[in-house]
Amino acid sequence: MSGPREPIVVVGAGIAGATAAAALRAGGADVVVLERRREPGSGSAISLWPNALAALDRIGRGDAVRAAGRPSSTGGTRREDGRWLMRPGEAQVDRALGERVLGIRRAALVAAIAGTEVAAATRHGAVVEAVAPHGGGAVVRLAGGEELAARAVVIADGSGSTTISSIAPVPPARYAGYVGWRGIARLRVDEPATQFWGPSMEAGFLALAGDETYWFLTERLREDVPAPADGGAHVRGVLADWPAPMAALVAATPDAELLRHPVRDRRSLRRWARGPVVAIGDAAHPMRPHLAQGGCQAIEDGVLLGLLLAREPDAAPTAARFAAARRRHVGAVVRNARAIGTALHAPRPLNAAFHAGNALAPSAAMIAQLRAVASRRAFERQARRLGL
Ligand SMILES: Cc1cc2nc3c(=O)[nH]c(=O)nc-3n(C[C@H](O)[C@H](O)[C@H](O)COP(=O)(O)OP(=O)(O)OC[C@H]3O[C@@H](n4cnc5c(N)ncnc54)[C@H](O)[C@@H]3O)c2cc1C
Repeated sequence: MSGPREPIVVVGAGIAGATAAAALRAGGADVVVLERRREPGSGSAISLWPNALAALDRIGRGDAVRAAGRPSSTGGTRREDGRWLMRPGEAQVDRALGERVLGIRRAALVAAIAGTEVAAATRHGAVVEAVAPHGGGAVVRLAGGEELAARAVVIADGSGSTTISSIAPVPPARYAGYVGWRGIARLRVDEPATQFWGPSMEAGFLALAGDETYWFLTERLREDVPAPADGGAHVRGVLADWPAPMAALVAATPDAELLRHPVRDRRSLRRWARGPVVAIGDAAHPMRPHLAQGGCQAIEDGVLLGLLLAREPDAAPTAARFAAARRRHVGAVVRNARAIGTALHAPRPLNAAFHAGNALAPSAAMIAQLRAVASRRAFERQARRLGL
């Protein structure tokens, strides 16, 4: 039977799992991380907003993460013909956010969050098949039949989570109607992070450390359309006439650094916790990428839950309190990202009306939205609500 001396088991060593494990260690708890991959993943890159950096500062990992990335100011949004749609003042955005957005490779981010302690506590090649509450704790069953007793289990196995069914039945994630391309160019761009809105499409770029630049493109497409044989040529064709530096970035992207994924999301779950088993990150709330907050909210989840579980002896009520506080905040981010994604990829007349409406909106509205979700203060408010 599991008891207070058992470790806390984290399922998945992605952004959410690595952060929860680092926060648990920072709080002095015993932790085991189970990751199905045999080696750390490579992935692409990510924009890390100040809410996530403030969360990482709470557990002493912020500076390691900053050292592996590159900060950028926030430029605004242009049309595919180059005209500006939204151009808030960089200094105003910096002030509202509390620091600049960081561009970072995903593998570097996870490694910097984990550090040596969490890396040592991670078992690679450990596929979790089932999680079940048991006694006051839980039991985790691995492929091959091994069972581990846990004081609590943090489910962080991503948007395709299978172990989430130990908390609640889960509707499948739905195709959003568009695909996302991501690439890392071997090209330095010294410009503020910028987005471009085109006909039922969105693109953008963000500087990374080491003279590299991350870029993305989303493209409306029926789900059954197969990926083009030459993805680079396809994206170069789509972006050929878009403003610099988009086409140059795609041209400077090696094939191995180009990824294509269908975009999916689903409603945020009604239950994130059952007894001492609790879900975080994409397992609990997969979201569309338009606010660049999926990973940032996963980091907030991991820090808040990890510090709470490390502090409180009784995991079940702690998990329930965490879930209740976070569901409301993150649910709004998921809905907002869905609404923006739907409008950005709507057929042309609707899509153009959305662009035009945004062009008329005052910069103050955009800055207020960033402040509410992506600023250092946004995280601090969440932490205070949970007594941290
Ligand atoms: C196109 C695109 C662009 C994005 N851009 C941004 C951005 O700029 N900023 C941002 O904040 N977010 C962004 N996101 C969202 C972000 O990528 C996700 O929210 C984030 O990766 C979620 O992290 P996670 O740890 O919850 O899940 P994952 O990263 O999916 O990690 C889950 C881990 O669990 C492991 N695992 C799975 N099943 C098992 C099992 N049974 N047993 C053991 N291990 C298992 C997996 O191998 C994996 O390592 C973007 C997403 C997309 C699709």
